[in-house]
Amino acid sequence: MHDHRQLGRELGLFDTDPLIGAGLPYWLPDGAAIRHTLEEYIRGAERRAGYRHVYSPVLGKRELYEISGHWAHYSDDMFPPMDLGGEQFVLRPSLCPHHAVIFRSRAHSYRELPLRMAELGGMYRSELSGVLGGLTRVRAIQLNDAHIFCTLDQVAQEARGALEMIRRAYEALGIAPSRYRLSLPGPGGKYVAAPEKWERSTALLTEVLDGSGLPYEAAEGEAAFYGPKIDVQVTDGAGREFTLSTVQVDFHQPERFGLQYIGADGAKHRPVMIHRSIIGSVERAVAHLIEEHGGAFPAWLAPTQVAVLPISDAELPNADAFARRCAEAGLRAEVRGPASGTLGARIREARLVPYQAVIGAKEAVDDRVALRLRDGRRLEPLPSEDVLARIGALVDTHSTEVWDQAAAA
Ligand SMILES: [Zn+2]
Repeated sequence: MHDHRQLGRELGLFDTDPLIGAGLPYWLPDGAAIRHTLEEYIRGAERRAGYRHVYSPVLGKRELYEISGHWAHYSDDMFPPMDLGGEQFVLRPSLCPHHAVIFRSRAHSYRELPLRMAELGGMYRSELSGVLGGLTRVRAIQLNDAHIFCTLDQVAQEARGALEMIRRAYEALGIAPSRYRLSLPGPGGKYVAAPEKWERSTALLTEVLDGSGLPYEAAEGEAAFYGPKIDVQVTDGAGREFTLSTVQVDFHQPERFGLQYIGADGAKHRPVMIHRSIIGSVERAVAHLIEEHGGAFPAWLAPTQVAVLPISDAELPNADAFARRCAEAGLRAEVRGPASGTLGARIREARLVPYQAVIGAKEAVDDRVALRLRDGRRLEPLPSEDVLARIGALVDTHSTEVWDQAAAA
């Protein structure tokens, strides 16, 4: 297994600088390409599943987190407040309070429910510098978050829908859960006191897990302070397990923020809030992908998808033209000409790139490309049009296959 910190530096994906601060990595262009592609995949999956996206600020007044309960139950993990004009602001430890306030800002009818609100937004955690490292323990987090405001009757179906999105995302990302965990409160933890609500939400999540047929284990002491959750666990290169995805049922924050909708009976009702994340924090997700794939990402995620390799300087114009057509087709391509080494050296150099498009005099003559696939396969020269179409189709469908043999036949 690979260490994402070492590989991240070798591949030029991300880095840190003491002047910026520990736990505050920055993303280099190749890392940013992966992150952008991952975020767009998530947004697309959410749009198709009926979510609507919002933006909200990364800080808010201290009162916001007093109402949500974060201040009482979570302030150890929060940055200290900033004083400004007699008010106190804090960097947010989660997106939920902002989304609850956005929901509350408009009147809602039962016809709008389930209302699915999503955001890929920043949040902050005051980790001590001793535990910080790479992308897995950071102080600034980009969270793939969403909140579903719904009726009690809709909770099970919405939670099932979220689990299905997680399943599909893992398939596209080429990763697998190590286990599903029903995370319950435990002794000594800081939890909001509302035994009846804990029981109801635990019963709902248990029903969803039992109905899903997925094997799971219950674990005490792993719940959020406001409610139980389903956690999807993965294991990193060093054998450590962590939570990547989560689905949570929350009766607490709707109560605290006084959320309501008008029911079919014309009366006011309290919605339930489901918190769900498909890939958790973008940082952790990318760290896991780096370790899992050793830098050989699925083609749709790869920072460079096509390495265009002209055999001699004579084919450089053809290589440039092919790379431009790749870019127009939405693919990330890069020409590596003879100036950067022999063909063999350039092929080795591009070993993590899913497609190496070799263009020699023979191919240049009739606009063909000789493809070498990352897995070592070498294809007969194909018309460049066909190559673009086939790679494009695999990338668009987020396939983890580097070549579709059936389509190629
Ligand atoms: Zn939340």
